[in-house]
Amino acid sequence: MKSSHGPSTRAVHAGELVGITGSVNTPIIQTATFYYPTDSEATWKGELPDGTYIYSRHGNPTIRAAEQKIASLEGAEEALVFASGMAATSAIALSLLSKGDRIVSMEDIYGGTYNLFKNELPRFGIDTDFVASVRTEEILATLDKRTKLLWLESPTNPLLKMVDVAALAKGAHEMGVLVAIDNTFASPINQNPLSVGADLVMHSCTKYLNGHSDLVAGAVAGRKSLTQELWKRRVTLGGNLDPMGGFLLIRGMKTLAVRMQRHNENGMAVATFLQSHEKVQKVHYPGLPSHPQYELARRSLRGFGGMVSFEVKGGQKAAFKVMRSLRMIALAPSLGGVESLASMPLNTSHVAFSPEERKRLGINDSLIRVSAGIEDAEDIIEDLDRALLSSK
Ligand SMILES: *Cc1c(COP(=O)(O)O)cnc(C)c1O
Repeated sequence: MKSSHGPSTRAVHAGELVGITGSVNTPIIQTATFYYPTDSEATWKGELPDGTYIYSRHGNPTIRAAEQKIASLEGAEEALVFASGMAATSAIALSLLSKGDRIVSMEDIYGGTYNLFKNELPRFGIDTDFVASVRTEEILATLDKRTKLLWLESPTNPLLKMVDVAALAKGAHEMGVLVAIDNTFASPINQNPLSVGADLVMHSCTKYLNGHSDLVAGAVAGRKSLTQELWKRRVTLGGNLDPMGGFLLIRGMKTLAVRMQRHNENGMAVATFLQSHEKVQKVHYPGLPSHPQYELARRSLRGFGGMVSFEVKGGQKAAFKVMRSLRMIALAPSLGGVESLASMPLNTSHVAFSPEERKRLGINDSLIRVSAGIEDAEDIIEDLDRALLSSK
Protein backbone atom coordinates (compact mmCIF):
# COMPACT_ATOMS: atom_id res chain seq x y z
CA MET A 1 0.00 0.00 0.00
CA LYS A 2 1.51 3.34 -1.04
CA SER A 3 1.54 6.07 1.57
CA SER A 4 0.11 8.34 -1.13
CA HIS A 5 -3.15 6.41 -0.93
CA GLY A 6 -5.88 8.15 1.04
CA PRO A 7 -6.89 7.02 4.54
CA SER A 8 -10.14 5.42 3.33
CA THR A 9 -8.22 3.31 0.81
CA ARG A 10 -5.60 2.36 3.38
CA ALA A 11 -8.31 1.42 5.92
CA VAL A 12 -9.68 -1.07 3.40
CA HIS A 13 -6.54 -2.45 1.79
CA ALA A 14 -3.42 -1.85 3.91
CA GLY A 15 -1.87 -4.86 5.59
CA GLU A 16 -4.33 -7.41 4.22
CA LEU A 17 -2.81 -10.85 3.92
CA VAL A 18 -4.12 -11.83 0.50
CA GLY A 19 -2.91 -14.26 -2.09
CA ILE A 20 -1.89 -17.30 -0.03
CA THR A 21 -5.21 -19.05 -0.44
CA GLY A 22 -6.85 -16.92 -3.08
CA SER A 23 -9.08 -15.52 -0.36
CA VAL A 24 -10.06 -11.86 -0.79
CA ASN A 25 -9.97 -11.48 3.01
CA THR A 26 -7.20 -12.05 5.50
CA PRO A 27 -7.60 -15.61 6.79
CA ILE A 28 -7.85 -16.30 10.52
CA ILE A 29 -4.65 -18.25 11.14
CA GLN A 30 -6.00 -19.92 14.26
CA THR A 31 -2.90 -21.70 15.45
CA ALA A 32 -0.71 -21.62 18.54
CA THR A 33 2.41 -22.89 16.80
CA PHE A 34 4.04 -23.09 13.38
CA TYR A 35 6.25 -25.61 11.58
CA TYR A 36 9.78 -24.82 12.62
CA PRO A 37 12.65 -26.39 10.67
CA THR A 38 15.26 -27.63 13.15
CA ASP A 39 18.09 -26.40 10.91
CA SER A 40 16.88 -22.79 10.99
CA GLU A 41 18.91 -20.23 12.97
CA ALA A 42 17.21 -17.09 11.78
CA THR A 43 14.10 -16.90 13.89
CA TRP A 44 15.15 -16.94 17.54
CA LYS A 45 17.36 -13.86 17.42
CA GLY A 46 14.90 -11.67 19.24
CA GLU A 47 13.86 -9.84 16.09
CA LEU A 48 10.23 -9.11 15.41
CA PRO A 49 9.24 -11.98 13.15
CA ASP A 50 8.17 -10.84 9.72
CA GLY A 51 7.10 -13.66 7.45
CA THR A 52 8.64 -16.27 9.74
CA TYR A 53 6.36 -17.41 12.49
CA ILE A 54 7.21 -19.62 15.45
CA TYR A 55 4.54 -19.33 18.07
CA SER A 56 1.52 -17.03 18.26
CA ARG A 57 2.66 -15.21 21.41
CA HIS A 58 5.62 -13.99 19.31
CA GLY A 59 3.62 -13.21 16.21
CA ASN A 60 0.82 -14.44 14.01
CA PRO A 61 0.02 -13.60 10.36
CA THR A 62 -3.54 -12.44 11.11
CA ILE A 63 -2.30 -10.20 13.92
CA ARG A 64 0.48 -8.96 11.64
CA ALA A 65 -2.11 -7.89 9.05
CA ALA A 66 -3.93 -5.85 11.72
CA GLU A 67 -0.62 -4.31 12.78
CA GLN A 68 0.30 -3.30 9.26
CA LYS A 69 -3.08 -1.68 8.73
CA ILE A 70 -2.66 0.35 11.93
CA ALA A 71 0.93 1.31 10.99
CA SER A 72 -0.32 2.52 7.61
CA LEU A 73 -3.19 4.53 9.15
CA GLU A 74 -0.87 6.21 11.67
CA GLY A 75 1.97 6.76 9.18
CA ALA A 76 4.21 4.64 11.42
CA GLU A 77 7.18 2.46 10.59
CA GLU A 78 5.75 -0.27 12.80
CA ALA A 79 2.71 -1.12 14.92
CA LEU A 80 2.02 -3.81 17.49
CA VAL A 81 -1.34 -5.11 18.60
CA PHE A 82 -2.08 -6.08 22.21
CA ALA A 83 -4.82 -7.87 24.14
CA SER A 84 -6.19 -4.51 25.39
CA GLY A 85 -5.42 -0.81 25.44
CA MET A 86 -4.10 -1.25 28.97
CA ALA A 87 -1.79 -4.08 27.83
CA ALA A 88 -0.45 -1.66 25.21
CA THR A 89 0.09 1.12 27.76
CA SER A 90 1.69 -1.14 30.35
CA ALA A 91 3.97 -2.58 27.65
CA ILE A 92 5.16 0.96 26.84
CA ALA A 93 5.91 1.65 30.52
CA LEU A 94 7.56 -1.69 31.24
CA SER A 95 9.59 -1.69 28.00
CA LEU A 96 10.99 1.82 27.99
CA LEU A 97 11.31 2.70 31.69
CA SER A 98 13.49 1.43 34.51
CA LYS A 99 13.80 1.91 38.25
CA GLY A 100 14.50 5.56 39.03
CA ASP A 101 12.88 6.89 35.86
CA ARG A 102 10.12 9.42 35.97
CA ILE A 103 7.00 9.93 33.86
CA VAL A 104 5.38 13.28 33.40
CA SER A 105 1.74 12.84 32.54
CA MET A 106 -1.25 15.04 32.11
CA GLU A 107 -3.58 14.69 35.09
CA ASP A 108 -6.56 14.50 32.78
CA ILE A 109 -6.04 10.99 31.38
CA TYR A 110 -7.92 7.71 31.08
CA GLY A 111 -8.69 6.30 34.55
CA GLY A 112 -6.92 2.97 33.95
CA THR A 113 -3.76 4.74 32.81
CA TYR A 114 -3.88 6.96 35.90
CA ASN A 115 -4.25 3.90 38.09
CA LEU A 116 -1.26 2.19 36.42
CA PHE A 117 0.97 5.24 36.79
CA LYS A 118 -0.17 6.18 40.28
CA ASN A 119 -0.65 2.82 42.00
CA GLU A 120 1.35 0.16 40.11
CA LEU A 121 4.52 1.65 38.64
CA PRO A 122 5.80 3.12 41.94
CA ARG A 123 6.29 -0.50 43.14
CA PHE A 124 8.91 -0.79 40.39
CA GLY A 125 10.59 2.50 41.28
CA ILE A 126 8.93 4.47 38.48
CA ASP A 127 7.24 7.67 39.61
CA THR A 128 4.77 9.86 37.79
CA ASP A 129 4.04 13.54 38.15
CA PHE A 130 0.60 14.54 36.98
CA VAL A 131 0.34 18.03 35.58
CA ALA A 132 -2.98 19.69 36.29
CA SER A 133 -2.82 21.79 33.15
CA VAL A 134 -2.97 21.37 29.38
CA ARG A 135 -0.75 24.40 28.76
CA THR A 136 2.49 23.69 26.90
CA GLU A 137 4.73 25.84 29.14
CA GLU A 138 3.38 24.32 32.35
CA ILE A 139 3.81 20.76 31.10
CA LEU A 140 7.33 21.40 29.76
CA ALA A 141 8.34 23.13 33.02
CA THR A 142 7.64 19.85 34.86
CA LEU A 143 10.19 17.84 32.83
CA ASP A 144 13.54 17.23 34.48
CA LYS A 145 16.70 15.14 34.04
CA ARG A 146 15.04 12.00 35.44
CA THR A 147 12.04 12.27 33.10
CA LYS A 148 12.07 9.59 30.42
CA LEU A 149 8.51 9.75 29.16
CA LEU A 150 5.92 12.44 28.59
CA TRP A 151 2.45 10.87 28.48
CA LEU A 152 -0.26 12.77 26.65
CA GLU A 153 -3.90 12.26 25.78
CA SER A 154 -5.72 14.59 23.38
CA PRO A 155 -8.62 15.11 23.19
CA THR A 156 -9.00 14.00 26.79
CA ASN A 157 -11.63 11.92 28.50
CA PRO A 158 -14.22 13.17 29.37
CA LEU A 159 -13.77 16.93 28.99
CA LEU A 160 -12.28 16.88 25.48
CA LYS A 161 -9.38 19.11 26.42
CA MET A 162 -6.56 19.45 23.91
CA VAL A 163 -2.78 19.72 24.10
CA ASP A 164 -0.43 21.13 21.48
CA VAL A 165 1.36 17.87 20.57
CA ALA A 166 3.75 19.53 18.09
CA ALA A 167 4.98 22.13 20.61
CA LEU A 168 5.21 19.58 23.44
CA ALA A 169 7.15 17.08 21.31
CA LYS A 170 9.61 19.77 20.26
CA GLY A 171 10.19 20.91 23.86
CA ALA A 172 10.37 17.36 25.24
CA HIS A 173 12.87 16.23 22.60
CA GLU A 174 15.15 19.14 23.48
CA MET A 175 15.33 17.53 26.94
CA GLY A 176 15.73 14.00 25.61
CA VAL A 177 12.25 12.96 26.75
CA LEU A 178 10.17 10.48 24.72
CA VAL A 179 6.61 11.48 23.91
CA ALA A 180 3.75 8.97 23.85
CA ILE A 181 0.14 9.87 23.23
CA ASP A 182 -3.15 8.07 23.73
CA ASN A 183 -4.90 8.78 20.41
CA THR A 184 -8.01 6.72 21.19
CA PHE A 185 -10.50 9.59 21.10
CA ALA A 186 -9.33 11.09 17.81
CA SER A 187 -8.57 7.86 15.91
CA PRO A 188 -6.00 7.93 13.09
CA ILE A 189 -8.63 9.46 10.82
CA ASN A 190 -8.89 12.67 12.84
CA GLN A 191 -5.29 12.99 14.06
CA ASN A 192 -1.84 11.47 13.33
CA PRO A 193 0.40 12.52 16.26
CA LEU A 194 3.55 10.89 14.82
CA SER A 195 3.42 13.36 11.93
CA VAL A 196 3.83 16.26 14.37
CA GLY A 197 6.65 14.70 16.39
CA ALA A 198 5.23 12.20 18.90
CA ASP A 199 7.41 9.08 19.30
CA LEU A 200 4.66 6.59 20.09
CA VAL A 201 0.92 6.50 19.55
CA MET A 202 -1.26 4.24 21.69
CA HIS A 203 -4.82 3.14 20.89
CA SER A 204 -7.53 1.32 22.71
CA CYS A 205 -8.67 -0.55 19.58
CA THR A 206 -11.72 -1.49 21.66
CA LYS A 207 -13.07 1.93 20.70
CA TYR A 208 -13.08 3.53 17.23
CA LEU A 209 -10.56 1.24 15.51
CA ASN A 210 -12.71 -1.85 15.95
CA GLY A 211 -15.84 0.24 16.23
CA HIS A 212 -18.44 -2.39 17.02
CA SER A 213 -18.18 -2.80 20.82
CA ASP A 214 -17.48 -6.51 20.40
CA LEU A 215 -13.73 -6.71 21.03
CA VAL A 216 -11.14 -5.60 23.60
CA ALA A 217 -7.76 -4.85 22.00
CA GLY A 218 -4.96 -2.28 21.99
CA ALA A 219 -2.13 -1.05 19.79
CA VAL A 220 1.07 0.98 19.78
CA ALA A 221 2.60 2.55 16.67
CA GLY A 222 5.97 4.24 16.20
CA ARG A 223 9.47 3.76 14.88
CA LYS A 224 10.97 0.31 14.82
CA SER A 225 13.73 1.00 17.36
CA LEU A 226 11.02 1.55 20.00
CA THR A 227 8.43 -1.01 18.91
CA GLN A 228 11.18 -3.65 18.84
CA GLU A 229 11.61 -3.12 22.61
CA LEU A 230 7.87 -3.40 23.09
CA TRP A 231 7.68 -6.55 21.02
CA LYS A 232 10.27 -8.25 23.28
CA ARG A 233 8.11 -7.41 26.32
CA ARG A 234 4.93 -8.51 24.62
CA VAL A 235 6.61 -11.90 24.21
CA THR A 236 7.74 -11.91 27.85
CA LEU A 237 4.70 -10.35 29.52
CA GLY A 238 2.20 -12.12 27.31
CA GLY A 239 -0.15 -9.30 26.35
CA ASN A 240 -0.71 -10.59 22.81
CA LEU A 241 -4.10 -10.64 21.08
CA ASP A 242 -5.53 -13.89 19.71
CA PRO A 243 -5.99 -14.43 15.93
CA MET A 244 -9.78 -14.30 16.13
CA GLY A 245 -9.53 -10.90 17.81
CA GLY A 246 -7.11 -9.82 15.08
CA PHE A 247 -9.66 -10.78 12.45
CA LEU A 248 -12.44 -8.77 14.15
CA LEU A 249 -10.13 -5.79 14.42
CA ILE A 250 -9.20 -5.96 10.72
CA ARG A 251 -12.83 -6.21 9.73
CA GLY A 252 -13.77 -3.27 11.94
CA MET A 253 -10.95 -1.08 10.66
CA LYS A 254 -12.00 -1.48 7.02
CA THR A 255 -14.90 0.89 7.67
CA LEU A 256 -13.00 3.22 10.01
CA ALA A 257 -12.90 6.18 7.62
CA VAL A 258 -16.62 6.13 6.76
CA ARG A 259 -17.59 5.52 10.37
CA MET A 260 -15.45 8.42 11.58
CA GLN A 261 -17.04 10.71 9.02
CA ARG A 262 -20.46 9.96 10.52
CA HIS A 263 -19.18 10.10 14.12
CA ASN A 264 -17.76 13.56 13.36
CA GLU A 265 -21.07 14.74 11.86
CA ASN A 266 -23.16 13.28 14.68
CA GLY A 267 -20.83 14.61 17.40
CA MET A 268 -21.16 18.10 15.97
CA ALA A 269 -24.96 17.79 15.60
CA VAL A 270 -25.40 16.55 19.18
CA ALA A 271 -23.07 19.21 20.64
CA THR A 272 -24.80 21.99 18.71
CA PHE A 273 -28.22 20.76 19.86
CA LEU A 274 -27.21 20.42 23.52
CA GLN A 275 -25.59 23.84 23.55
CA SER A 276 -28.92 25.59 23.19
CA HIS A 277 -30.95 23.22 25.39
CA GLU A 278 -32.68 24.81 28.40
CA LYS A 279 -31.73 21.89 30.70
CA VAL A 280 -28.05 21.91 29.81
CA GLN A 281 -25.55 23.91 31.84
CA LYS A 282 -22.48 23.43 29.72
CA VAL A 283 -21.28 21.43 26.70
CA HIS A 284 -17.73 20.18 26.16
CA TYR A 285 -16.94 19.59 22.49
CA PRO A 286 -13.76 20.64 20.66
CA GLY A 287 -15.74 21.56 17.54
CA LEU A 288 -17.76 24.30 19.28
CA PRO A 289 -16.37 27.84 19.13
CA SER A 290 -17.19 28.03 22.88
CA HIS A 291 -14.53 25.35 23.59
CA PRO A 292 -11.62 27.13 25.30
CA GLN A 293 -9.16 25.51 22.87
CA TYR A 294 -11.23 25.74 19.72
CA GLU A 295 -8.36 27.21 17.68
CA LEU A 296 -5.95 24.46 18.76
CA ALA A 297 -8.59 21.83 18.02
CA ARG A 298 -9.09 23.25 14.51
CA ARG A 299 -5.36 23.16 13.89
CA SER A 300 -4.83 19.65 15.33
CA LEU A 301 -7.89 17.68 14.25
CA ARG A 302 -9.29 16.82 10.83
CA GLY A 303 -12.63 16.08 12.49
CA PHE A 304 -13.88 16.74 16.03
CA GLY A 305 -15.06 13.22 16.78
CA GLY A 306 -18.15 11.65 18.27
CA MET A 307 -17.51 12.29 21.96
CA VAL A 308 -19.60 14.99 23.65
CA SER A 309 -19.84 15.70 27.37
CA PHE A 310 -22.42 17.92 29.00
CA GLU A 311 -23.48 19.10 32.44
CA VAL A 312 -27.15 18.86 33.33
CA LYS A 313 -28.82 21.71 35.21
CA GLY A 314 -29.97 20.52 38.64
CA GLY A 315 -26.90 18.51 39.62
CA GLN A 316 -26.29 14.82 40.07
CA LYS A 317 -29.92 13.91 40.78
CA ALA A 318 -31.16 15.53 37.58
CA ALA A 319 -28.35 13.86 35.62
CA PHE A 320 -29.30 10.41 36.99
CA LYS A 321 -32.89 11.09 35.91
CA VAL A 322 -31.75 11.98 32.38
CA MET A 323 -29.70 8.79 32.23
CA ARG A 324 -32.67 6.67 33.33
CA SER A 325 -34.92 8.32 30.75
CA LEU A 326 -32.78 7.51 27.72
CA ARG A 327 -34.33 4.86 25.48
CA MET A 328 -32.22 4.30 22.37
CA ILE A 329 -28.90 5.47 23.76
CA ALA A 330 -27.53 2.58 25.80
CA LEU A 331 -26.24 3.23 29.32
CA ALA A 332 -22.78 1.72 29.16
CA PRO A 333 -19.18 2.74 29.61
CA SER A 334 -16.83 2.55 26.61
CA LEU A 335 -17.18 4.46 23.37
CA GLY A 336 -16.47 4.52 19.67
CA GLY A 337 -18.98 1.85 18.63
CA VAL A 338 -21.63 2.17 15.94
CA GLU A 339 -24.30 2.50 18.66
CA SER A 340 -24.65 5.60 20.81
CA LEU A 341 -23.69 5.13 24.46
CA ALA A 342 -23.98 7.31 27.54
CA SER A 343 -22.17 7.10 30.84
CA MET A 344 -21.28 9.27 33.81
CA PRO A 345 -17.55 9.71 34.53
CA LEU A 346 -18.49 9.98 38.21
CA ASN A 347 -19.21 6.25 38.51
CA THR A 348 -17.35 4.82 35.48
CA SER A 349 -14.10 6.14 33.97
CA HIS A 350 -13.26 8.31 36.98
CA VAL A 351 -14.23 6.17 39.98
CA ALA A 352 -10.50 5.78 40.73
CA PHE A 353 -10.31 9.56 41.31
CA SER A 354 -11.27 11.05 44.64
CA PRO A 355 -14.09 13.63 44.68
CA GLU A 356 -11.44 16.33 45.22
CA GLU A 357 -9.41 15.13 42.24
CA ARG A 358 -12.53 15.08 40.06
CA LYS A 359 -13.40 18.57 41.17
CA ARG A 360 -9.90 19.83 40.34
CA LEU A 361 -10.19 18.27 36.90
CA GLY A 362 -13.50 20.04 36.36
CA ILE A 363 -15.50 16.81 36.27
CA ASN A 364 -18.85 17.92 37.54
CA ASP A 365 -21.20 15.47 39.34
CA SER A 366 -23.85 16.10 36.69
CA LEU A 367 -21.51 15.38 33.77
CA ILE A 368 -22.83 12.94 31.17
CA ARG A 369 -20.57 11.64 28.42
CA VAL A 370 -22.17 10.65 25.15
CA SER A 371 -20.47 8.59 22.49
CA ALA A 372 -22.45 9.54 19.41
CA GLY A 373 -22.84 6.45 17.24
CA ILE A 374 -23.53 6.29 13.52
CA GLU A 375 -27.34 6.29 13.79
CA ASP A 376 -29.37 9.13 12.27
CA ALA A 377 -28.48 12.32 14.15
CA GLU A 378 -32.18 13.24 14.56
CA ASP A 379 -32.82 10.01 16.46
CA ILE A 380 -29.92 10.54 18.88
CA ILE A 381 -31.05 14.12 19.43
CA GLU A 382 -34.69 13.13 19.96
CA ASP A 383 -33.68 10.63 22.65
CA LEU A 384 -31.54 13.22 24.44
CA ASP A 385 -34.21 15.91 24.18
CA ARG A 386 -36.94 13.72 25.64
CA ALA A 387 -34.69 12.51 28.46
CA LEU A 388 -33.60 16.06 29.32
CA LEU A 389 -37.16 17.38 29.36
CA SER A 390 -38.34 14.51 31.56
CA SER A 391 -35.69 15.47 34.16
CA LYS A 392 -37.66 18.62 35.06
C1 LIG B 1 -10.72 2.49 26.88
C2 LIG B 1 -9.56 3.37 26.91
C3 LIG B 1 -8.30 2.89 27.30
C4 LIG B 1 -8.08 1.47 27.77
O1 LIG B 1 -8.28 0.56 26.74
P1 LIG B 1 -8.81 -0.95 26.99
O2 LIG B 1 -8.90 -1.47 25.59
O3 LIG B 1 -10.12 -0.85 27.68
O4 LIG B 1 -7.78 -1.64 27.81
C5 LIG B 1 -7.24 3.78 27.28
N1 LIG B 1 -7.40 5.06 26.90
C6 LIG B 1 -8.60 5.56 26.53
C7 LIG B 1 -8.71 6.99 26.14
C8 LIG B 1 -9.71 4.74 26.53
O5 LIG B 1 -10.90 5.23 26.17
